[in-house]
Order: sequence, then structure tokens, then C-alpha cells
Amino acid sequence: LSDRLTSVFSSLRSKGRLTDADIDATCREIRIALLEADVALPVVRDFVSHVKERARGAEVSQALNPAQQVVKIVNDELVQILGGETRRLRYAKTPPTVIMLAGLQGAGKTTLAGKLARWLREQGHAPLLVAADLQRPNAVQQLQVVGERAQVAVHAPEPGNGVGDPVAVARGSIDHARRQQHDIVIIDTAGRLGIDQELMKQAADIRDAVSPDEVLFVVDAMIGQDAVTTAQAFMDGVGFDGVVLTKLDGDARGGAALSVRHITGRPIMFASTGEKLEDFDAFHPDRMASRILDMGDILTLIEQAQRTFDEEEAAKMAGKLVSGDGFTLDDFLEQMMMVRKMGPLKNLLGMMPGMGQMREQLNQVDERDLDRVAAIIRSMTPAERQDPKMINGSRRARIARGSGVSVTEVSNLVTRFFDAQKMMKQVAGGMGIPGMPGGRK
Ligand code: GDP
Ligand code: MG
Repeated sequence: LSDRLTSVFSSLRSKGRLTDADIDATCREIRIALLEADVALPVVRDFVSHVKERARGAEVSQALNPAQQVVKIVNDELVQILGGETRRLRYAKTPPTVIMLAGLQGAGKTTLAGKLARWLREQGHAPLLVAADLQRPNAVQQLQVVGERAQVAVHAPEPGNGVGDPVAVARGSIDHARRQQHDIVIIDTAGRLGIDQELMKQAADIRDAVSPDEVLFVVDAMIGQDAVTTAQAFMDGVGFDGVVLTKLDGDARGGAALSVRHITGRPIMFASTGEKLEDFDAFHPDRMASRILDMGDILTLIEQAQRTFDEEEAAKMAGKLVSGDGFTLDDFLEQMMMVRKMGPLKNLLGMMPGMGQMREQLNQVDERDLDRVAAIIRSMTPAERQDPKMINGSRRARIARGSGVSVTEVSNLVTRFFDAQKMMKQVAGGMGIPGMPGGRK
């Protein structure tokens, strides 16, 4: 994808404005990227049209070319959607906090139960793992092994009682947790290979029996396009508060994350990244966004472009200051605004010989003053800004009225400008700085 986008970039590079054609061209590539990342088609459609809207309304950036700007909007939007509402586990006011896991068979619930238990134990909690998956023959044993590795207690039905009732086990586990001073209960439930009414009913029954503080939907990142139907079915059948994405160590590009988030509106809280207990992390929206878009290098380029732009602006201004040529009121205003925006100019000036005095003056710029100064300068005509000598008494009065300040203030500003201009000429005459843009070579 990166290659294709780079070619879109170069074809758009020279243009200054974000046109519909620019946006469409870039969005076509974005669409392909999302589909390749296995984001579900309806989600791709919604997302792309949303981005188009935002891109149309966006101000044209001076730092980025149109394609870069669209990519940046896409990335920002993706991070925001994936990360909006990111939140921590909610703990019950009165322990135990009950966390119930739901998801298809093989999604990674049992593994996740162990990871979560270990993670919570390391934070000083005393979790209890509950085996409410009595469907598969080895499920209870599997959880017991996981519990041992995580060094966490496991609550399971007594062996030899025939097929147990998962709802009863779950309900009983809460009392057990209270008696044994467990402050967190993690309920591992059964899954099926596909969506199944009986399964949904069992999960809903367990939910009703224990009123969990959190129901977490565990979903395999490799599920791809099916993420939408699966998430929707669990949302309707059981309901859930948060999402855990598993098997992110695989080569899935993670489109499921966007699909599930988009369809259910529920936050993705954790990421499972391997079979070992420690392969577990909070969910990072920015990492997921660049994984889905698969253009980390392009995003790095965009960041660099923005940084370079800021530096160039600073250098350009410093160059004008040094040469003292054509220094106008517009520059004066821009200079002051830049001082507010950026430390680097001050630093830049500080590094230049003979600029100490200038830096002093810049330091004296009162930030609150800037808005008034800006208002005054903006009330001047372009001709006045270019050649402030023409600003006579009647012009001063007009400018004062236009900017809502006194005539004295306008006069003071003009005087300050002439001082600055004079000083700059002196400085420029007194030295040559090789290599500075606009300076002497
Ligand atoms: P459950 O049926 O939902 O309880 O799923 P399991 O926890 O039994 O996991 C199913 C399989 O996926 C097991 O072989 C796990 O070792 C494996 N698994 C679970 N989570 C991950 C993960 O994050 N990465 C990888 N590579 N494998 C995982
Ligand atoms: Mg299981």
C-alpha cells in the first residue's frame, strides 16, 4: 500500500489546495487499505464517507500536501474512533467485582481469563477464576492449568456430579469468593464454533445470575469480515461493556478492531498477543491505527514534514530579521505570533551572534498584548502595512476605531515597529551570517 500511496503523493505534491479529486484519489487507496486489513465492508463505507466529509471541511494545511493531509485525517480519525472512551476496568463498590467473559469457542477466553487474573494479582488483587464452561470435556481442566500458572485460585464444579449447571456454578462462585476474600471474580464461559441461540441463552442466564460489573467480549483479531456479525450477535444476545482483541501476535492487520468498535460502540480495553500469560497489554489505539493502515513510514514522513515546516518558518523569519530587508508590519505581527507559538525562534536568535538584544525585546513581548497588536495591524490596509510611514493622523484615528483601541496605542505600536526596523538594520549591517537563508552568503 505504501508504494501506491507514495505515487498518489507525488502526483498531488505540487498542488496547494485540497480538491474533491485529491480527496477521492486518496480515499480510494484508504478504502483498499482498510479492506486489506479485513475491516468489514459496511464499516469501510461509513468510515471513508465520514473521512471525506471531514477532509472537505478541513483547512488547507501549509505543511502537508493534500494526500498527506487526507492520510493524517484518516489516521487521526482512526485513533479517535479506536480510542474514544478508552477506559479502565470498573470495580464494584462492594466486592467482589464480577467480570464475565463471552465469545466464540477458540476466541481465547480461557487464555485471557488467566492473563487477566495474573495481571490483577500483580496489582494486589485476589482474583478467583470460575469455570462456567462445562460444554467441552477438558474446559475445566484447562482453566485449572491456567489458574496454576497464574497462581490464582480456581472455582469449578465438583467432579463426578454428571454434567454440571454453568449457571449454578457461576452463582455459587460469588458466595465462594466472599467467603474466601476474593475481591474479583472472573467467569470463563463456554463458546461455540458459530453463533448459536442456545449458547447465547446460556451466556445471558449466567449474566442474569451474577449481574457482572463488566461483560467483556473476547474476539479473535483473525476473524476478519465475520467480526461484524459475531459482535452484533453477542451485543444482541448478551450485551457487553468492553472488548478484548486476541491473537494480535498473528499477522492479522486488525481490521476487526475497527469493525467491532464501529458496530457496537464499545471500547476495546485489552489486547492479547500470544499464548503465554504475560502476552497481554492494554489496548493502544495509535498502534492499532497504524497497523490497520499499514503505513507507519508514511505517517513518520507526515510528522517530519510538519516539523520541518515549523523549522523552515522560523528560519525564514530569522532570515528576514537578519537582512532587515522589506521588514513590514505584517512581518512584525507574524514575528510576534511566532514568538507566542514557538520557543525555537527565541532559541534560534539566541544562538546567533549579536542577537542578544533582539531576544531581549522578544522576551518583553507581553503575550496578552499580542491580540491587541494583532487587531491593530489587521485594521490597517495592505499598503499601510507595507509602508507604515504613510500612517498619518487621520489614518491612525481610522485604525484605532477599527480595532477598538485608542489612537495613542496605534501610535505606540507604529513607534515600536520603527524601533524594531531600525534595530534590525543595524544588526544586519553589523554582521554577516553565512548560510542563513536571506542572510549574507
Ligand atoms: P476459548 O475457547 O475462547 O476459551 O479459547 P482458548 O483460550 O482455549 O484459546 C484457543 C487457542 O488460542 C488456544 O490454543 C490458545 O493457546 C490460543 N490463544 C489464545 N489467545 C492467544 C493469543 O493472543 N495469541 C495466540 N497466538 N494464541 C492464542
Ligand atoms: Mg475456553
